[in-house]
Amino acid sequence: LRTTFSVIQKETGFVNGLIAVLHDNTEQEKIDMERREFVANVSHELRTPLTTMRSYLEALADGAWQDPNLAPNFLNVTQTETERMIRLVNDLLKLSKMDSSDTELSKEMVEFNVFFNRIIDRFEMSKSHKVRFERQLPKEQYFVEIDPDKLTQVIDNIISNALKYSPEGGKVRFGMTVEEGFLLIQISDEGMGIPKENVDRIFDRFYRVDRARSREMGGTGLGLAISKEMINAHGGVIWAESKYGKGTTIFFTLPFEMDDDGGEWD
Ligand code: ADP
Repeated sequence: LRTTFSVIQKETGFVNGLIAVLHDNTEQEKIDMERREFVANVSHELRTPLTTMRSYLEALADGAWQDPNLAPNFLNVTQTETERMIRLVNDLLKLSKMDSSDTELSKEMVEFNVFFNRIIDRFEMSKSHKVRFERQLPKEQYFVEIDPDKLTQVIDNIISNALKYSPEGGKVRFGMTVEEGFLLIQISDEGMGIPKENVDRIFDRFYRVDRARSREMGGTGLGLAISKEMINAHGGVIWAESKYGKGTTIFFTLPFEMDDDGGEWD
């Protein structure tokens, strides 16, 4: 809290009043602190791959380039780190776009079941994981007005996480229910879960429960922060529930109005 005083003087110079104004700086200070923290995080996230690359490039320059065993391996590391930085910068650009108020969603009327199933199919088709998929989706059609690209990014991100943290042979469940005024979408996994005290923080920028593990799997720590911005921009909310060691469910809502025929269009 900051206080400023103004003295009210008459033309004659006599003081006949004093105004005290109390400024509430706490909100501004919080924003400033978050901004400083964000810049520090970004710098740190970029410095880590850069220093790794520097040491590998130095080793290559010092002669490792002539070693047929070391050279490909060292080049591989610099490539992986470059990819990581590109992902990070792309994620930062996405966030800054969502932050600037001029972002408009390109909304279209989309039948959510078809849309959702298509994304799940894409993941199910890629055989790079050993996880079972279970869909608990209603048969009816539900038309929602959404930005399909942005919502695809959100769902991609949630499913990628579910797969990343699933044990081999684990199950990923997809659910959707219709509630009063919104659709409720759920994606659950049987992975390691998230400790109770951290579960709300996973939507914060750069927050990871296990930094080393997330890095190892190529994560930027921004995926869920971006997802949250995108769901909020749609007028929905996103949250997580988790049992440590048992699994995690990510929930999100999308505004939806049932029409007179009970939501079925044909
Ligand atoms: P990351 O790039 O690290 O995956 P995200 O923003 O997508 O970043 O997720 C933030 C953190 O939330 C992850 O690092 C992880 O600790 C935790 N997390 C997200 N999804 C899951 C999940 N399905 N199971 C366990 N932990 C998860």
